[in-house]
Amino acid sequence: PLLRVAILGLGGYGGRVAEAMQSCKRARLVGLVSGTPEKLSTWGTRYNIPEKNRYNYENFDRIKDNPDIDVVYVITPNSLHHDHVIRAAKAGKHVISEKPMSLNAQMGQEMVDACKKAGVKLLVGYRMHFEPRTLEVVRMRKNGEFGKIMFFQGQCGFKIGDPTQWRLKKDMAGGGSLMDIGIYAINGARYMTGEDPVWVTAQETKTDPVKFREGVDETIQFQLGFPGGAVASCLSTYNMNNLDRFYLDGQKGFAEMQPSTGYGPIKGRTHKGELTQPVVTHQTAQMDAMAGIILHGEKPEVPVDGEEAVKDLKIIDAIYRACRTGQRQELKL
Ligand code: NAD
Repeated sequence: PLLRVAILGLGGYGGRVAEAMQSCKRARLVGLVSGTPEKLSTWGTRYNIPEKNRYNYENFDRIKDNPDIDVVYVITPNSLHHDHVIRAAKAGKHVISEKPMSLNAQMGQEMVDACKKAGVKLLVGYRMHFEPRTLEVVRMRKNGEFGKIMFFQGQCGFKIGDPTQWRLKKDMAGGGSLMDIGIYAINGARYMTGEDPVWVTAQETKTDPVKFREGVDETIQFQLGFPGGAVASCLSTYNMNNLDRFYLDGQKGFAEMQPSTGYGPIKGRTHKGELTQPVVTHQTAQMDAMAGIILHGEKPEVPVDGEEAVKDLKIIDAIYRACRTGQRQELKL
């Protein structure tokens, strides 16, 4: 059977996912949720979505009575994921949430709990977890080919445009660059090293307090310490271009990737040579893999469930606390 997906939130990234799903072998776009009637109609025509599978935010709880939809993929601004995921779960549908899953760990945990209570699966759109070159580095690390991991460096950023967009509003975004792009370095630090950090330190710098208002971070540097002794040094920014780079160093070898999390192609090499695994459309690979996870209980190489996302949110909470207090934060994930 195919995984039958409804996309909730027909914005920029929703459009990318919808296009990518046209090439899926195990998943199909069958439903839409939007507050804009014109979008429901243009998307509906383009993707051949029957009227009965088109919803708005007022009537979408009725998706409960629609046996032709398996999962709701929530692709709205960050602050809305919490409510949208919980509503979808209460309607008895599996849920995929975009990253960051929510604004903080407590809200994230509420989403995990709601999905558990409803007996539905909760996955998060961590598309790198299905990217073949990333997975090759993870495989090599699990296989001990880098030796003991000592260091990770993750640099993620871009110069953000339009100052009026939701990404620069604290109530919608939950923060600034860290919520949006720094999360790739946080999540990457975990899947590249294979460990969860036990402490974090962090420093924030702001050159433009007009564009980046109170609570919206422009640039944050943060450091993570891992139980095995490895350390990570990361940069998250909305004010520098060309930052999309991972470096992993072990006692027997290294991996470097640049770009490391962009839509692709991912490029990189290790001490053994270039990474040459196939270039894929990330969202196509992700949705095919998620079909296996949801329909057949397949286990991904790197977890993508709600609990994983809560760990990242705990790290984000700790980074913001470290910035505010100047103090090292101990972590228990
Ligand atoms: P966007 O602004 O292009 O789209 C957001 C959509 O949500 C719009 O269609 C908007 O109309 C809709 N929406 C519904 N209710 C809304 C409300 N009350 N206020 C504002 N908008 C509302 O944003 P986007 O770039 O598509 O990002 C959406 C989510 O996807 C974010 O959480 C973002 O972090 C995530 N994202 C993930 C990736 C990835 O690679 N995994 C890439 C881009 C974005």
